[in-house]
Amino acid sequence: MTSQTFALYLRQQLAELKAQGLFNTIEPLESANGPIIRMNGRSLINLSSNNYLGLASDTRLVAAAIEATQAFGAGSGAVRTINGTLQLHAKLDEKLAAFKQTEAALSFQSGFNCNMAAISAVMGADDAILSDELNHASIIDGCRLTKSAVIRYRHSDMNDLRAKAKEARESGKYKNIMVITDGVFSMDGDIAKLPEIVDIAEAFDLITYVDDAHGSGVLGGGAGTVKHFGLSARIDIQIGTLSKAVGVVGGYVAGSRELIEWLKVRSRPFLFSTAMPPGSVAACIAAIDILQGSKELQDRLWENAAYLQRGLKELGFSIGHTQTPITPCILGNEEATQQFSTRLYEEGVYAKAIVFPTVPKGSGRIRNMPTAAHTKEMLDQALAVYEKVGHELDLI
Ligand code: PMP
Repeated sequence: MTSQTFALYLRQQLAELKAQGLFNTIEPLESANGPIIRMNGRSLINLSSNNYLGLASDTRLVAAAIEATQAFGAGSGAVRTINGTLQLHAKLDEKLAAFKQTEAALSFQSGFNCNMAAISAVMGADDAILSDELNHASIIDGCRLTKSAVIRYRHSDMNDLRAKAKEARESGKYKNIMVITDGVFSMDGDIAKLPEIVDIAEAFDLITYVDDAHGSGVLGGGAGTVKHFGLSARIDIQIGTLSKAVGVVGGYVAGSRELIEWLKVRSRPFLFSTAMPPGSVAACIAAIDILQGSKELQDRLWENAAYLQRGLKELGFSIGHTQTPITPCILGNEEATQQFSTRLYEEGVYAKAIVFPTVPKGSGRIRNMPTAAHTKEMLDQALAVYEKVGHELDLI
């Protein structure tokens, strides 16, 4: 293909996406990602980050990052298995194991990489994976990297999971079978039914895998969804991100000593991609220390979430069945949702519209993410804008 034909091909693909309303433009921030952001020269109340605890610009994390960068450089210089593992990485891994109350843990360059790494390192061609239909894209991609049979079960439908687990086990076709789920589902904020999942797993001898990207630092006193249900001893593999509640970048896998040893020799992103930079590692360590030292930020997050959710419900909006700070405002129609988000933006609130294909058709929503760093005044201001735009578009 000549470069001109290739460019033409891409132009046509892009035009198709635009025609379907699926093209996304990215507006760069002119400030740190906090409760108030600057964009296009304007200040906006930010309800769209994953910065749950406001740690992304916490001065203690910034100071730790600067100090480690000055001492150890901007980059780590190699993959973890050659000589990119600094003592800082080893310290972070130890801290993460203590934080998650598992025998061992291993950090990676992103939460996305953890799913690429862990699923493909433990599952093979003779195996099957039972996966919740609403699992995150990185789980779906991690499953694709295996040669395992992937069997999707209906979202949080325990009868469907039990039936599919029974069928898979009784077929005699598979050596290992894994059940894999998000701990907290990112579009609706509902929590996986882990106690029932674990019972089913034990009945049919399944490996259990929980991606707790949205539960870590938020549920279970900070340790996450597994701890929230008191199931630490009954889940085989947990992953978490260092990019959401922890506020930096990276991810980790937590589990048995054997699991972590296996990942160190078999997980491809660990073996073939350069280690996290020292500044980020040091900032993560500072964040974990803060999380373990006090529940203050988590309490504030939950208070703010309850306040925003109560306010939206009182205005007459539907927030679905969230059980966590993730606060969808479900409007239904895709166009109305996009229009709502645009009007919020014009009135000073940044809250992204999420529509098909990220969520099912007809369940378009504004996804609000309150954080510990928001003040009541900011949330009141946002609610006032919601009320104004809701009336204006005849949605409440
Ligand atoms: N898993 C889930 C459930 C997520 O929501 C995300 C973040 N979007 C990830 C994994 C990936 O994490 P990271 O952004 O740290 O790569």
